[in-house]
Formats: sequence, structure tokens, C-alpha cells
Amino acid sequence: MSGAARLTVLSGPSGVGKSTVVQRLRELRPDVWLSVSATTRRPRPGETHGVEYFFVDHAEFARLVEEGELLEWAKFSGNFYGTPRAAVAEHLAAGTPVVLEIELQGARQVRASQPDAQLVFLAPPSWEELVRRLVGRGTEPADVIARRLQTARIELAAESEFDATVVNASVEEAAAALVALMGLSGP
Ligand code: 5GP
Repeated sequence: MSGAARLTVLSGPSGVGKSTVVQRLRELRPDVWLSVSATTRRPRPGETHGVEYFFVDHAEFARLVEEGELLEWAKFSGNFYGTPRAAVAEHLAAGTPVVLEIELQGARQVRASQPDAQLVFLAPPSWEELVRRLVGRGTEPADVIARRLQTARIELAAESEFDATVVNASVEEAAAALVALMGLSGP
């Protein structure tokens, strides 16, 4: 398939390494556009408004939902997250491949509203490895980690809903597999 820009959704449990794989994907293929989500979560150290996320308050998030400005949205681990609709549509219309890095409920909404989207599940090599990565990140307190691990069990059980699975054993291989799935691996 050549030319047709496509929407790709990368999902998978918290801690599996979605952000790292997407970062590597963008180094390999700078022509891919990664959607910047809105969230009510507080920024982590080093995160910048408009780069990793648009950090908004609850009132602003509610406005985005009410006015239909989000392609999908979900509450995850106590915070709201959503994909601004207009920017995705603009990039696809311009022929740019678009990636959404979102959790399971959002992936399901995209599946329903954009049947042409390709849903890719990023899986950990093992449950033990997922726990190790989530705890090792060191950015969340214990109760948040516990809640995310509980959600991760549910998310892992949904793998069969996706069009493809990529196992994140190494970032390099996972990013390359994603490039191939997106039909972007050229000569
Ligand atoms: P984090 O707080 O670790 O940045 O993200 C928590 C979860 O929310 C991750 O699984 C991430 O992929 C997901 N997420 C980020 N942005 C969005 C979004 O716009 N919509 C949905 N549904 N999930 C998102």
C-alpha cells in the first residue's frame, strides 16, 4: 500500500514501554506524527505543556468533551486523558501517518469510530518484567503503581481485540516492527 496515510493506535499496559518505543519510532521515521493528548494528570518532572501532553484542569477537559473536540477519551488511574480530534484529522488529510499512544478504553473507541485504524498491542515479555519496569520507573508512589498493575491485568487480557501484537523485548526491535506494521519500512 502506498501513499494512504493511516491512523495507528499503539496501546498496551502502563509500564510496557509505549512512550519509549514511540520515541524511537519517531527517530526512525520523523515523518510520523504523534498526537499530543490532553490530560488532567499533573506533569511529571521534565514534562512540558504541549510536548508530552496538554496539561488541563477538569473544567477545561469537560469543555473539550462537551464540545466534541476529543476523538476519544478515558479515565485512567484517576486522571482523564483524551485525543484532540482536529489535529489528527488535519495530519491524516495532509497524508501524514498518525500514531496515537493511548490506553485500552480509548483504543476501543477509535476502533468503533475509525474502522480503518490499525490497532497495535504492545506486550511485555512477561508479567514479571512489566512489574519490574513499572516499579523501576520510580515516578509514581506505591498506591499509584498498585492501581496501574491492577489495570494492567485487565489490559493484557484484551490483546486479542487488536490487529497485531508487538512484544517489547527490545526497543529497537519493537520500533522496527511498528515501522513495518505501518507499511513504512522502505528500501
Ligand atoms: P501516563 O500517565 O503514564 O502518561 O499515561 C497513562 C495511560 O494513559 C497510558 O496508558 C497512556 O497510553 C494513556 N493515554 C495517554 N494519552 C491518552 C489519550 O489521549 N487517550 C487515552 N485513552 N489514553 C491515553
